[in-house]
Amino acid sequence: MKQVAIIGYGPAGITAGIYLKRNNIDSIIIGKDLGALDGYTDLVENYYGFAEPIPGKDLIANGVKQAKRLGIQVITDSVISLKEIEGGFQIGTAKHKYEAKTVLLATGKTRTTINKPGFIKYRGKGISMCATCDGYFYRRKKIAVVGCGAYMLHELEYLNRMSPDVTIFTDGNPFHEEVSNKVVTEPIISFTGTDKVTHIETEHGKYDVDGIFIALGIPSSIEFASQLGVIVEKNNLLVNENYETNVPGLFAAGDIIGGKLQIAKAVYDGMMVADSIYKYLNKK
Ligand SMILES: Cc1cc2nc3c(=O)[nH]c(=O)nc-3n(C[C@H](O)[C@H](O)[C@H](O)COP(=O)(O)OP(=O)(O)OC[C@H]3O[C@@H](n4cnc5c(N)ncnc54)[C@H](O)[C@@H]3O)c2cc1C
Repeated sequence: MKQVAIIGYGPAGITAGIYLKRNNIDSIIIGKDLGALDGYTDLVENYYGFAEPIPGKDLIANGVKQAKRLGIQVITDSVISLKEIEGGFQIGTAKHKYEAKTVLLATGKTRTTINKPGFIKYRGKGISMCATCDGYFYRRKKIAVVGCGAYMLHELEYLNRMSPDVTIFTDGNPFHEEVSNKVVTEPIISFTGTDKVTHIETEHGKYDVDGIFIALGIPSSIEFASQLGVIVEKNNLLVNENYETNVPGLFAAGDIIGGKLQIAKAVYDGMMVADSIYKYLNKK
């Protein structure tokens, strides 16, 4: 079992890994991409030490290189589950499971939503982003899950326990997994309803639904954290002055805890949380 698993290799996660290393604590850092700045060409002009603007992506990629140079284990993979086990936590990706005594969620705020008419209108009114959080409200009801990858299968497993009537909508993506559920592969046109969502409309059909779960891409730490009963306030993970959530051994830092959504603040969080994790491990 590792001492620390850090989910996210943005400024918060990488800085935490570096400061932990300075305290002689090895961590494993798992990230899926370059975080908030991935896919953007924005130049960062307000971070200390760069006389000329630096492309945000380069800044983050340099951080990852820095951690690797210091001998920190950095892995590119998508975390799809997190659960408590004896003495710590188990972190699951599509193909691997990792165990650690403590976990730092430094996953930023990116979310994979769906850009279809009705999504915004019915989000929270029958459309949910988290099966573990809301699946219970749709016991024995007509459920739709939207997605086609590992995260969707993870959510499906939970939803199948709630209802015998769960349909998968892949929104036009091919689907080759063996499942007992009905699968609709036509592109989704819209989500429709009254005061709450009642239908998914596809190119050739209109399907009755009581609840829709969007499970595209991978979850943010809000979903992991909710699964473990972490308190979430206004879409931020709630932490105490030591960056610890209400689940002992589970820490959070960076954009995901709110405040200024800036690199300098994420770096500060990373430094401070490393100290807290160090103290936590030494108390045990
Ligand atoms: C377009 C844009 C421009 C910006 N410009 C500036 C600027 O000029 N100056 C400035 O100070 N700030 C800027 N910001 C904000 C800044 O990028 C963020 O505040 C900062 O990156 C937050 O750091 P973080 O470590 O908390 O999260 P992020 O940098 O978002 O990193 C999150 C990490 O978590 C990983 N992750 C998330 N979910 C999973 C999962 N399920 N499994 C594995 N890994 C996961 C991601 O892959 C990533 O490695 C900008 C943001 C955007 C979007």
